[in-house]
Amino acid sequence: MSTAAIRGETNFEAVIGLEVHVELSTQSKMFCGCRNEFGAEPNTHVCPICLGMPGTLPVINRRAVEYLCKTGLALGCTIATDSKFDRKNYFYPDMPKNYQISQYDMPLTTGGGVQLPSGKLVRLNRIHLEEDTGKTFHAGGHMAAAEHTLIDYNRAGVPLMEIVTEPDIASPEEAEMYLGQLKAVLSYLGVSDVKMHEGSLRCDANVSIRPVGTTALGTKAEVKNMNSFRSVVRALRYEIERQEAAVRAGERIVQETRNWDEGRGLTYSTRSKEQAHDYRYFPDPDLVPLTIERETIARWKAEMPELPVAKRERLVREHGLSEYEAGILTEDVATADYFEAVAHAAKSAKQAANWLLGDVRRLLEKHELTLATTRMRPQQLAELIALVSAGTISGKAAKEVCDVMVATGEAPSAVVEQRGLAQTSDTSEIQGLVDAVVSANGDSVASYKAGKTKALEFLVGQVMKASRGKANVDIVRALLLERLG
Ligand SMILES: [Zn+2]
Repeated sequence: MSTAAIRGETNFEAVIGLEVHVELSTQSKMFCGCRNEFGAEPNTHVCPICLGMPGTLPVINRRAVEYLCKTGLALGCTIATDSKFDRKNYFYPDMPKNYQISQYDMPLTTGGGVQLPSGKLVRLNRIHLEEDTGKTFHAGGHMAAAEHTLIDYNRAGVPLMEIVTEPDIASPEEAEMYLGQLKAVLSYLGVSDVKMHEGSLRCDANVSIRPVGTTALGTKAEVKNMNSFRSVVRALRYEIERQEAAVRAGERIVQETRNWDEGRGLTYSTRSKEQAHDYRYFPDPDLVPLTIERETIARWKAEMPELPVAKRERLVREHGLSEYEAGILTEDVATADYFEAVAHAAKSAKQAANWLLGDVRRLLEKHELTLATTRMRPQQLAELIALVSAGTISGKAAKEVCDVMVATGEAPSAVVEQRGLAQTSDTSEIQGLVDAVVSANGDSVASYKAGKTKALEFLVGQVMKASRGKANVDIVRALLLERLG
């Protein structure tokens, strides 16, 4: 049999490792006092240190070290009591110093892992601390067609942690799950705002393929420029297919960096991948080695908040939610906090979950809001739940009230008042309507009595119509049954 035939019949599997860069939400930059803020006027948060002027000295941001180590503790990593910073030399205009301060052979953490909902553990290789680069903008056209390039150094020197996995991820879907779990942990810890579209969470992927059943790693390509979870999945799918097609066609995979092009839906080669020696790493002579006391690590451990997995289990145990409900409600800390506040105020976790996973979710989407941006407070949603439980408004009216609340943050009682949505539970008033409907619909009454239960729903509908939707439907049904019985 020819090798081509073997290639044609071979099934391949993907081997993926992710490098996630997370901007830490510290007040100031990694080695200077400049503000760490997204969206400021370009080149306003810069100083001689982050611009790399001769004679300046960097100072390590204590909070950045704490944030990274807390992330490491949350993910079961080993914290290095001794680590150091190194210079990674490279020459691009986005780094004004011509080197980046990073960590080479003594990262702050090693080991650890992220547990996927499937139970699989994606092992971590390391988490290290470095500084971010500036941002380049190609003006007057795209890439090669650009007339000139503009650079904003506000981001240069912002604390960046790089979380590197082992090649444990087997599919684009697993990569997405990994990112989701990681993002949740980071949001709970409050160490980053993890906004992929603003670049505070960025992901590069090392992708290779190998015949199923073999263990040696194939030659990998590093895929960059993926700006959302969705583009990570699309880019990985494309890249795996591309490599499979290449191998089947008898081509050799080359080690290279490839950029994902969202618009065209493909990856393209940008440069052959640098080897570590190209960066000529050496210990930064301006920074002393970093020592972390064991007592400090113990204190950080004691300060750990409840993490997503523990919260998910608690919601199932204490509130009787399903795994599915608890999973969605604990995806990020804002949603989890909102849910707990509503459940507490409404004294009903089930109702709070039903509203948040149903109508509130739909309405937030409709108004292009999130639980973090809507003006509807948890207390107000709890009041709405109470209005329905007390029979003041119908379930149908409650949806209308909620729509206004999500959009404007108005109190539910005010919306009910303005729109005249209060339902009547006045039995004598409803009895009058029931009597009138029963007299006017002899045919339906007869067919109900002949055993056609559907006729009852028709009669309920007629009474509701006569009340212009305001009658309490439970009372309507009860009075009708009594009258027809
Ligand atoms: Zn600065």
